[in-house]
Amino acid sequence: MTLQAIRAGGIRLDDVTVAYHRHPAVHHVSGSFEPGSLTAIVGPNGAGKSTLLKAIVGQLPTADGAIERGALKPRDIAYLPQQASLDRAYPISVLELVLLGHWQRVGAFGGIGQRGIRAAREALEAVGLSGFEDRPLGSLSVGQAQRALFARVLVQDAPVILLDEPFNALDARTVSDLLALLRRWHGEKRTVIAVLHDFELVRQHFPDALYLARRLIAWGRVEQVLTPENQLAARRMAESWDEHAPVCQTGHAA
Ligand code: ADP
Ligand code: MG
Repeated sequence: MTLQAIRAGGIRLDDVTVAYHRHPAVHHVSGSFEPGSLTAIVGPNGAGKSTLLKAIVGQLPTADGAIERGALKPRDIAYLPQQASLDRAYPISVLELVLLGHWQRVGAFGGIGQRGIRAAREALEAVGLSGFEDRPLGSLSVGQAQRALFARVLVQDAPVILLDEPFNALDARTVSDLLALLRRWHGEKRTVIAVLHDFELVRQHFPDALYLARRLIAWGRVEQVLTPENQLAARRMAESWDEHAPVCQTGHAA
């Protein structure tokens, strides 16, 4: 990663609205992820957290407002989607999965070479999966599969890293090992954004937080964001979505 890429690692949201079939899931969110910041995105189920990450990485268009990525190119943003959306039955070995991280950077025809393979092996070692190179992805436990996906992110060597609920359904040891990688990335001045549910974990490890409940509840230093007042405001927002749930479901079914 070049110094230029590190300096470029800021992302600004300018009145961002993201919608599905004209139903907004994220409303008028503004603010900045500073280069090198480590931010947790929190909020109730259905708050638009995954939707916001997909918009930042460019998988979803904004219905309104803009996402300013400066000099960042698509390959400069590494993105680990929510676990449920990954297909572990895909017939691929652990090493091949990690090598895919290079493709994002060099392109499918750029060639990976011996250096790339060495980097992938080093990444597997860093996540505690040495010796798993030839194992089929489908044979790994949930925790091992998440370690392999973190190795792929390592290999991608991106200045911006987005993680959607990366610690869900993992044992304490795996969480603590993967948190160490987050700290390493933060120390390397990468911009790291992770969706999390565990407020205690956020308080202990994240300097900044973004509290989302479709609209922005708060964004800033973690101690100013994770307050009882903001939790109450988020809960009130979420209750109002439940009231409209039958209407929305009809809309989605149509
Ligand atoms: P979170 O990650 O905070 O739980 P999501 O971003 O997944 O929330 O979803 C926000 C809202 O957008 C929810 O009401 C969800 O049902 C809706 N939604 C998410 N994905 C889609 C989709 N592909 N099509 C239609 N609605 C969607
Ligand atoms: Mg989600």
